[in-house]
Order: sequence, then C-alpha cells, then structure tokens
Amino acid sequence: MTMNSARIAIIGGGLSGLYAAYALKQQGIDDYVVLEARNVLGGRIVSVQTHDTMAFEPPSSILERESFDLGPSWFWPDYQPQLHRLVQELELAYYEQYESGHMLLEQHAGMPPVAMSGYDSSPASMRIEGGMAALITALSRHLDAGHVKAGLAVKCLSVERQKVAVTCEDSFGQTTIWNVDHVLLALPPRLAATSITFVPKLPGEVSRSWEATSTWMAPHAKYFAVYDKPFWRNQGLSGQARSRVGPMGEIHDASIPGGKGALFGFLGIPATTRRNISENQLKDLCRAQLIRMFGEAAIKPEVEFYKDWSLEAYTATGLDLDASGHHAIAPMAAPNSGPWTEKITGIASEWSQQFPGYLAGAIEAAALGVQALQRRKLPHQFDVDR
Ligand SMILES: Cc1cc2nc3c(=O)[nH]c(=O)nc-3n(C[C@H](O)[C@H](O)[C@H](O)COP(=O)(O)OP(=O)(O)OC[C@H]3O[C@@H](n4cnc5c(N)ncnc54)[C@H](O)[C@@H]3O)c2cc1C
Repeated sequence: MTMNSARIAIIGGGLSGLYAAYALKQQGIDDYVVLEARNVLGGRIVSVQTHDTMAFEPPSSILERESFDLGPSWFWPDYQPQLHRLVQELELAYYEQYESGHMLLEQHAGMPPVAMSGYDSSPASMRIEGGMAALITALSRHLDAGHVKAGLAVKCLSVERQKVAVTCEDSFGQTTIWNVDHVLLALPPRLAATSITFVPKLPGEVSRSWEATSTWMAPHAKYFAVYDKPFWRNQGLSGQARSRVGPMGEIHDASIPGGKGALFGFLGIPATTRRNISENQLKDLCRAQLIRMFGEAAIKPEVEFYKDWSLEAYTATGLDLDASGHHAIAPMAAPNSGPWTEKITGIASEWSQQFPGYLAGAIEAAALGVQALQRRKLPHQFDVDR
C-alpha cells in the first residue's frame, strides 16, 4: 500500500475534473491530484480516428482532424459563453454542424423515407476541429502530468481527523491512499453515491438525491459509418434524418470539412434490449437502415464505430438503463451538516444549475466548485493566500 498526500483530490479526469485542475493551476494552486479510473482521460468525451486510435494529439494534418465523436459532438457558443471562452482561450478551432439540404423522415417499415425541409439548429450547434477530445488534450497540456493519475479507481472516502483518506485501486488490485483536505467529485453524482464507500455515511438526503440524479446520455449508444465523401450532399440531403423504424431514431452528418463523409445515429433501442443483440448485429441493422434511407452508396462504409455508453462501468449504473430522456435537476453539491461538511464538493456536469448534463455544465460546476473552495479556505490555506 502506498500513502501520499495533497491538499485537493479531484476524482475523475473528464472535462469537469481537468477543468477544475486547470482553474486551480491558473490561480497558482499546484497541490492537487486528479485520480481517473480509466486508463485514458476524457470520461464521456471520446473521439476516435479512422485508424482507430484516440485523438489525444492536436490536429495538425487532415488525417488527425478526422476524428469522430462517440460521446458529445456539439456545443452552443451563443448561449454557453463560459465554455465558448474556454474554447477560445485554448485556441481550438470550431465549425458549424452541417445542416444544409433536406432531411429524411422514415415513418413506417416498408415505406420509403420522405425528404422534407430540414431545420437549422438555433442557436447553431458547433463541432470542435479534431473532435471534442481536442478540449481534453488542450487542457491536459496545461497540467503537470505528475498530478494526473490515470488507471486509479477511487473506492472509498473516509474522514479521518481533519483529513479525507481517499483509497484508490489500480487494475492489479494495488491500493494507494491519498490524504487530502478536500475532495472535488468530478464524476456523475449517481456514480459517486453508488460506487464509492463513504465512511461515515453521507447524510441520507444527500446520498438519496445523488443516487436519484440520472447521468446524462448514460443509457445511449451511437453508431458511426465513415465514407470517402459525404455522398448524400450531392442528392440535396443534409444527412439529418428521423426514423420511427430504427434502429437509429435520429441521424446526423458527422463529416469532416474537406475530408471524409460520415453519418452517425443515436440508437432508439433501449439499453436493456441492446444487451441481447451482439454489436455486429446492431451494426448490420444500422447499416441496413442507412442503405434504406440514403441509398446503395451507403452499403460499404470504410469504417464503422459503435459505442454503447450503458456498458461503461465508469459512466453508467444499473439505474441508468432506463432512459428518462430528461436532464435531471442538479442535486445539492455538498453536504451542509455532519462530518462531510466542507470536505467534498460535487463538480461534474450533473451538478450544474444552468446546463446539467452538458459540457458547459461541467465547466460551470467545476468553476463554482473551485470558487467555493477558495472562499472556504482549507486548513492550510492556499498558497496564493499566504
Ligand atoms: C453519447 C453522448 C453524447 C453527448 N452529447 C453531448 C453534446 O452534444 N453536447 C454536450 O454539451 N454534452 C453532451 N454529452 C454530455 C457530455 O459528454 C458531459 O456533460 C460531459 O462530458 C461530462 O463531463 P464530466 O467531467 O462532468 O463527467 P464524465 O465525463 O462522466 O467524467 C467523469 C470521470 O470520472 C471517472 N470516474 C468514474 N468513477 C470513478 C472512480 N471511482 N474513481 C476515479 N475516477 C472515476 C470516469 O472514468 C470519468 O473519466 C453527451 C454525452 C454522451 C455520452
């Protein structure tokens, strides 16, 4: 067993956790550690390339720009100014979601889809060049690699005297304990409440409200088909489609400007039903749907990707198999009585008041969590306060 200490432990290396570390660093606070269970950073942000490697390098060539988002695709700068500012600060390029042309509607099995006027998202949905993972790469570059530990799953938090002992385990079962003053929970509230043991227990109303908060998009799955060119555009189609037949309920253009064509869809089949169908069968069904809707040119994608988020133990729990389809209301971010008072703060996206579940929510909640920490003044005070 290894023992370490830091002032702040950030549990989770998704957008909220890395942004919190970035915000601390910007204020000259270096005594933190990010503990990430997966071997890669990003959490729900996953961008893959046609050669199937993670897009964690900056986009410098057309090939590297060809990243496809298996997690979030869009942000909305017009009404998410805080995230917009971050994207600009990190000097990331972005572009508008392609929506020109007709959309397709498939109403009934056996009936051809109908082309109808498409609609433009308002405000415009934007995609980041190099995929959303470019955000993660850019944030990571600003952090000291020694403060970010991947492959360490937090199992237990316990209050011991004035400190919190954070017990983590790596994939070999090796245990590391971090003694810290404060913990920023950068993992979904439901996951925190159900997968981490708190000693002593959290107040009942806190753990109940965290457990009741569904994790945004955790029940969903995405399918991607990548083609040499976006052939549907020549037919006056936007790539947008809706289907009551499925398996995909909603389809969008995911092409790279000046590069590969791509279509992606959200599966309409519930997570519990998907479990009884193999990934290859699901891909066959999705491809057949694209052929039905976009014609024979869709028959041979160069590459296909499929990601079922309900199978991800560090995102979804059994409670997330049932999709409510709604953004949960943010639960309380910190206990306000008992031994956990001023020891833990929830900063993942679901704790955001304004944009719960969204990327912008991860930034909002993390920024507020870091601000609250400063106001509280930890036992040893921050360096900047000395
Ligand atoms: C398919 C899909 C589509 C989406 N589309 C959009 C979109 O278009 N626009 C948008 O704004 N949002 C979208 N979202 C939501 C967006 O991805 C999230 O809001 C955002 O990524 C949440 O970041 P986070 O850091 O709060 O949480 P996460 O990304 O969930 O990060 C939590 C981290 O904690 C880690 N972790 C979990 N348990 C432990 C543990 N015990 N110990 C240590 N680490 C742990 C996880 O591995 C993970 O890295 C989408 C999500 C999905 C899945």
